[in-house]
Order: sequence, then structure tokens, then C-alpha cells
Amino acid sequence: MEQVQVVPVVKKLAEDVVNRIAAGEVIQRPANALKELLENSLDAKATNIQITLKNGGLKFLQIQDNGTGIRTEDLGIVCERFTTSKLQEFEDLNKISTYGFRGEALASISHVAHLSITTKTNGSVCAYKASYVDGHLKAPPKACAGNVGTIITVEDLFYNIATRRKSMKSFNEEYLKVVDVVSRYAIHNPSVGFTLKKQGETLSDVKTNSNSNHKDNILAIHGSAVCRALLEVEDYCSTLKVKIKGFVSNPNYTSKKLLFILFINDRLVDSKGLRKAIEQIYSIYLGKGSYPFVYLSLHLDPMNVDVNIHPTKHEVHFLHEDKVIEKVTEAVQEKLSGSNISRTFYTQTRLPNYNDTSVATMSNEKSIDKAIKLATSSEMPKKLEKSHIISQNKMVRTDSNEQKIDKFLDTTTSVASELKSENSVTRRDIKLTSVLSLRKEIENNCCETLQRIFHNHKYVGVASATWSLFQHETELYICNSNNVFQEMFYQIMLYEFGNFGIIKFSNPLSIFDLIMVAFELPESEYQIEQDKPKEELAQDATDVLMSRSLMLNDYFSIEIDSDANILSIPLLLEGYLPDLNGLPLYLLRLASEVDWSSEKECFKTFSHETARFYVMPPWKQLCSDIDDISDVAPDKNWTWVVEHILFPAFRKCFQPPKKFQEDGTLLQIASLTEMYKVFERC
Ligand code: ADP
Ligand code: MG
Repeated sequence: MEQVQVVPVVKKLAEDVVNRIAAGEVIQRPANALKELLENSLDAKATNIQITLKNGGLKFLQIQDNGTGIRTEDLGIVCERFTTSKLQEFEDLNKISTYGFRGEALASISHVAHLSITTKTNGSVCAYKASYVDGHLKAPPKACAGNVGTIITVEDLFYNIATRRKSMKSFNEEYLKVVDVVSRYAIHNPSVGFTLKKQGETLSDVKTNSNSNHKDNILAIHGSAVCRALLEVEDYCSTLKVKIKGFVSNPNYTSKKLLFILFINDRLVDSKGLRKAIEQIYSIYLGKGSYPFVYLSLHLDPMNVDVNIHPTKHEVHFLHEDKVIEKVTEAVQEKLSGSNISRTFYTQTRLPNYNDTSVATMSNEKSIDKAIKLATSSEMPKKLEKSHIISQNKMVRTDSNEQKIDKFLDTTTSVASELKSENSVTRRDIKLTSVLSLRKEIENNCCETLQRIFHNHKYVGVASATWSLFQHETELYICNSNNVFQEMFYQIMLYEFGNFGIIKFSNPLSIFDLIMVAFELPESEYQIEQDKPKEELAQDATDVLMSRSLMLNDYFSIEIDSDANILSIPLLLEGYLPDLNGLPLYLLRLASEVDWSSEKECFKTFSHETARFYVMPPWKQLCSDIDDISDVAPDKNWTWVVEHILFPAFRKCFQPPKKFQEDGTLLQIASLTEMYKVFERC
């Protein structure tokens, strides 16, 4: 049988279909719709921009600014294609200083979503609200109440493009893309305050103030580890007419992913050439698989930049590209080499006396009785911030043990469940002077040479329960793991202050019962003859912690319920779980050893006690009655944790104090160059 071929008929597409296709090209996902809207707000000279999303922006995306607003008479045409208040002639493109100029964004959005605008200008007596479909007003704008500025609401994005809607991977992924865009603009525009949150949540995921600086915002968004490592870059080249400004991380900071934030003439762009060149310089310092943080803002002569690029294309091209890139890399390179000045320091070359361990012991004369009483009577630090989101809400699973206290923990604690890490980008900015000054103490005490040694160390192995070996360049070192880990946890306590992840217990644990367990331990130093009855003391200690429960939860992720049960402890290091055998003693010591009377002392002693608990390795409890634990063979799991979790953490943010050079914490035991000399003589 003869086959009939269907010949397609060529038809002109209906206008709305054409528009929808075109709009779908401009608006590809919530993050780039938002970028357009953000730029409009910045063009309108807003100093405050608030963004709210639902379902990653697909269901609901709203941006509110306090900019100039839109004149009522313009509301009729703002959503039509190619209507703009920013450009009149093609030549104007050469001197354009606003983000928008095509008049395409609002039009495009109105073709693929339900769009409405509420706006008020300075001269207007009231605000007006208008809704749009396919570029046109649905009905005449309605007068309503409102502040000067503009609220743009985009609902049901891609409601009429099913394929696009389906291609969106997950709400969370879209949300994170939006967080990324907003974070970049926030870092670049410190004079504008940005807030980003999910609808219905009171806590924001990005929050910057309107009169901050670049560094404040990098800290607020990316945290203290990056912020501490920042080097400021500033340069100008008159022949190329290029102004370079920015902040880049120093060679001590590494990240698994490159964060490259580039603005050229205040536009968020990408330049493959520049990105590659910057990566190249850092690769010398950081090695494979480690990346820096780079924020650069270039100002070029507008004549030399091609801004007439498609809204979705970030790649930018400019005249004299190679030369400009060279100039920028030079400026960065100069900063990096300057930050890496080497110094010499004192090392002890003899082998240490292994019995000479400095494991912290409870050298405390006052009876616990007195100490708890002191704590009950003293005031708790007043400065409480309102509860904030906890950034890494990760829950960790624990394994059960076989010990005495463990049995107690076992029945109640099978720490549990899912990883939940939606908001790992969120950080709150801690401005408490007490915390800042404790951090300053760490920074002032930091020995840069030791810092370099720890950052660039090569782990060798665990020598004993207390001692670990590592190498730096041609030198072999032995360090007292207890001291260094404890110092590291102390520093994490202060730098992650208020931003801890959570280790949540699946069942509440009674603080009273735990403290009663603690009294059974020799470390509690409980003296039957002198001290009050255990029950009474345990109740006092419970009360001390209960009365601080708000603060403990807010700052330290220690949640205590109204029945005096502890529900969680902070996650200090990803993948690291302290030995819960130490929990009873930790709680007792929090009640008795922390100085609750002044804010700074409180945070300091609290952080020390917590570090002490976290560093207590699993074998410590086992042999609490053995004085010298340095001969005890380390547990296999512990060895793994030391190698894969604890030592790698030194590379990130550790600031070893100068005292480590003298107190026997770190000793150089061999030097390859010295060894060569010995061999030569043989
Ligand atoms: P463009 O930004 O390229 O001009 P848009 O479609 O993004 O095009 O915006 C169209 C016009 O709407 C702008 O030129 C501006 O006049 C007005 N507009 C949009 N958003 C705002 C805002 N947030 N505040 C004040 N005016 C705005
Ligand atoms: Mg625009």
C-alpha cells in the first residue's frame, strides 16, 4: 500500500505564542527573573530590598523596594515589550549606567507568570496596584495604601509552559540559585540592605544592612573563615582605564568550590578568561582540588564594554581583554605573595618525654558545692538575640557503646535521622563585643608560622593516644593531639558562635539523671563528707542550666525542654561526634565551672568546657583511672577520625597560639635536610 506523507503546513504563529516563546528564553528560571527585578530596584535607587519566595520562587516570588516607584500613568505600558525609562537612542548604550535598558524583563515575566505591581512615587498621595497578563493591564490600576517604592509579585511562574515547569529540578535547588544571586548583589552593593526569606518564615536566609561594607556582607553571607582570610585588592591602570577593587582569600583559605564573584561596571557577569587566569595563580598556592574566594569589581570605560548582550548570557566581552586580565591577575598575585612572608621560629629538636603529657586535668580547688551555688546566684548574660535560624541543621547518627554510662545513654539515645541541610548558606552575623574580643585574642595570639605549618601539613599518623605525627615540607613534627584539638574546638566555638549545626538526640535526656551519673565518676570530685547530698547538687546544677536554656539554645544549639531534658548539642565539625560518655561530666562542669557572671567570661569558659568535652576521645573514659594515658593504644575509629576529620580541619581555620611553640605541644623531631647531612657524613 502506498504511504501517504503528511506535509507540514507553514503557518504564522499567533502573537501570544511568539511572545511566550521569546519570554521563556529571557526568563529561564526563578533566579534570573529575580536578577532582572533586583536590577530594576537598584536602578530605581532603592536602599532596601526585601525578597520573599515560595517553592523556590515558582509558586511565589516577591520583591519589595523603597526606590522611586513607577508613575501611575506609566503603569499601563511598563509590561509591554521594549518600554523603558532608561534608554532613548542606540548611542545611549555607550554611556548606560543603569542595569536595564531593553524594557524586556517585566514584559517577559508577564507572559510566563501572573504579575502584579504595587507602587507609589514620592509625589503621589497613594499607591496603585495593577495586574498584568501577556504584557497588558488586566484592569485599570487601583488606588491602595502603600509606601514609596515598588512591590512586584510574580506568581505561578511558567504556569503556561508545562515543559519548563517540569524541567525545574527541585524547589530547593531553585531557591539556592536565588540565594546565590542575592548574595552576590548584596556583597557588591553594601549600601543597600537585602533580605531574602521563604514565605511564612520569620527568619531570613540572606540579611545585610543598608550601611554596611563589602567585608561585613561577606562575613554575613559566607562566614568568618572566609572573612578572616580576605585580602583587599585595589588598583588602577590609567592606560587601560581600568579600576580594580575587590576582596580575595589568602593562600591559607581553601574551599572545595571556586566562588568567583565578578562585577564589571556594576553588572554581575562572568568572564571565562579572567576566571581561568585567577584559578591559575591560586593553583600554585592551593594545590589541586582547592579553591579560593574571589570577589572583584572592575570599572572599565563603558565605551570598551559590550553590554548589549542577551539578558541570560553572563559572559561579557570587552576591549583589550587580555591586557585587562593580565592587569587584574597582577594585582591579585601581588596581594597573595605579600601575604605569604615566611618567618623563622623556635623549635625544640629533642624527642619529647612522652610521660610529660599535658592532658587537662580537673585542677580545681573549690568544691563543686560552692561552685554551683555561685552559678545559681549569678546573673546570666543579658544580651539575647532573638532566636535565629540554625544554619546547618544536620543530625548525626551515633553508634552505641558498651560502657556503664553508655547503657544509660543507650536506652535513650539512638541519635537519629535524616540530613537536613537546606540552609547551609545561611549565617547570622554575630556582633557581640564579648565574642569579637575573644576572637581578637585568638587572632593576636596566633603564630603565623605555626599557622602555615598546620595549614599545609601532611598527616603521618597517630603515635599514641596523645601524640600524632605530621610533616610539613622537610620537617617531621609530633604534636599533643589533645592540646591542639581542644584549642581548635575552642576556636570553632567562638567563630561559629550562634551558627552551629545540631546533633539531636532522638530521645530527650534528663539533665538531672545525667548529672547524677557524673557524680559517680572520680572526675566529679564529689566528696561525700563535705558536699551536699548528690540529689540536691544535681538539682542545683539542673536549675543553673535550665535558667540559661534560652541562651544555650540560641547561641550554642543546646536545646533544653521545659522538663529539664537536653535534646541536642552543637555540631562543631562536620562528621565529628563527641563521645557521649562525656556528656554527664560536661553538663556538671557547665553548671560548676562556667563563669556565668559576666558575658565575656561566660562565653570563654563555656567554650573551653565544650571544647574539653568534644576533644575527649572514646578511650579516655575507659581509662579514667589510669594516670598516664599516653601509652594506651588508640582506638581504631579514633585514629580514623583523627586522620580524616580532625587533622583536615587544621587546614581550614586553625590559628595556633604562640604558646604551642614553647609548651611542648608541638615539637619538631626530625628535619630531612639535617638527615641528609647525617647521611653525607656516613
Ligand atoms: P528595563 O529595566 O530594561 O527598562 P524592565 O522591563 O525591567 O525594563 O522595566 C521596565 C520599566 O519599568 C523600567 O524602565 C522602569 O521605568 C520601570 N520599573 C520596573 N521596575 C521598577 C522598580 N522596581 N522601581 C521603579 N521602576 C521600575
Ligand atoms: Mg530591567
